[in-house]
Amino acid sequence: MFDREAYTLFKFSKMLNQSFQNKRQLLECALPALRDLFKLDRVYFFDWQQERALLSLNMMCKKEYCMDMQEDISVLNEPEFLKKLLQDGIADSTDLNYPAVYVLLKWRRPAMTLEGDDVRTVIKERVGVLRLERFRKNRVFHETEKKMIKSVAAEISHNLTNTEIDQAKNQRLNTATALNDLATIFATSLRLSDGLELILQGVQKYFRFDRVRLYQTNYDGTKIKSILGVDISGEVTRQSGDDLPEDERTLLRDVFDKGAAYRTIHNVVYIPLKVQRNKVGFLTFDNLLSRRRIDYLDFISLKQFSTQIALAIDNAALFERVQELSNYDELTKLPVRRFFNEKFAEEIYRSKRFDLIMSVILLDIDLFKQINDTYGHQIGDWALKEVSRVLRTSLRQTDFPCRYGGDEMIIMLPRTNGEEAKIIAKRLKERINGIAVPDRYTNGDRVTLSISQGISVFPQDGDTAAALFEKADKALYWVKDGRRGTFALYGDVADDIPQKENAREE
Ligand code: GH3
Ligand code: MG
Repeated sequence: MFDREAYTLFKFSKMLNQSFQNKRQLLECALPALRDLFKLDRVYFFDWQQERALLSLNMMCKKEYCMDMQEDISVLNEPEFLKKLLQDGIADSTDLNYPAVYVLLKWRRPAMTLEGDDVRTVIKERVGVLRLERFRKNRVFHETEKKMIKSVAAEISHNLTNTEIDQAKNQRLNTATALNDLATIFATSLRLSDGLELILQGVQKYFRFDRVRLYQTNYDGTKIKSILGVDISGEVTRQSGDDLPEDERTLLRDVFDKGAAYRTIHNVVYIPLKVQRNKVGFLTFDNLLSRRRIDYLDFISLKQFSTQIALAIDNAALFERVQELSNYDELTKLPVRRFFNEKFAEEIYRSKRFDLIMSVILLDIDLFKQINDTYGHQIGDWALKEVSRVLRTSLRQTDFPCRYGGDEMIIMLPRTNGEEAKIIAKRLKERINGIAVPDRYTNGDRVTLSISQGISVFPQDGDTAAALFEKADKALYWVKDGRRGTFALYGDVADDIPQKENAREE
């Protein structure tokens, strides 16, 4: 008899000797095996929620099948039964009118805890209970059987521990792989905004949060600049920080003020993104819709990943600022030629696309060499600054002036026709004519600045940047030829420009 039992026990442990994906899979194997081994009519598995003194039914296995079930049984009001179960690991049922025993399962499971800002890996003791039932009153559980049931339960407990550890390891590996993939995508995307979009989509997809959002702050961390969000559908939304409701603005203070590593506000987790003391923004995610719990491991991984995101954003912001600086001329604070050419090409494209007109004014300071030679380079520089100040303050927001080189400047005037451009040229001429070299340099003489201007118009004078520049330059050359201080529209003077003659050599 004993040998047969030993053999069945051996068979049982052999059956469990495989790797299970999770607790559920293990139970789906163990419960029917238990049923067959002890000729049971029903087996239940409960999770023991110790803090609430509740047994929560998890799975039930009958003759032919196992099924997930949910039902809570309070164990508070049965102290005798509880004491025996905890002491002996097995106890007879006190509330059923057929033979049934409860048997304790104890296993361990790795978990993460958040304590303040500290995140720790802890091993949590888990307790569960099996209830084995036989429906015929005379088929009670004998002592030898109970002993064997305890051995089998120990075997299941042991397997539960292994399964939970495997599961945590796999999860960790999956997360690490996912984040590594994301980091690679991030590193290879050319534009920061593309990269961030991909990252958010990736995070949403891998971690299956209901919503992931990235708040970016301005360079000194005092304002929310923009919000990039991804929801369950994977769709990306962009929002400007300007139209945030007032209470969302206080978020910034809330998230950063405590200097904490994360912050939870109304079930939403906020991870501040900082580089040294730079507040770059924050990453938030939530499961408000689905009400799923946020897994600690996911949280930890994301927290580590957020460091990379913060660094990338900070780098990009620095790059943007450096680029910004290199787009402007040091002396005149006007955009430089390269920057102008970019904008010029964009504007021509737009004008073609939407059938718009635009004008270009090319201007050059008259006898500038003479100013340099007579009063020195410093006065020359001063004159350049004065002229560009007039440009910067006399144009519309959409107009785009540029220091093209030396004493030559160019202005792009979107949605402006030739006649309107002439009005602007006249205004510039008058304002610049009003600027006099300080008389301490001129022996009291009044020496004023003067410019010559040539104007071309899109599309009649040309529909490429080169053509427009060439026509404006021809008009300017025409002005310089004995008409300094005035301006000319190419269309008005074209007939007077010798065909063979080319613009000055650059
Ligand atoms: P024109 O009326 O024909 O234009 O005569 P111009 O003397 O102005 O001749 P041009 O435009 O060819 O001369 C440009 C001069 O501008 C030559 C160069 O020494 C001077 N220049 C160029 N860049 C600077 C600068 O940054 N500062 C100063 N002070 N002078 C500059
Ligand atoms: Mg000049």
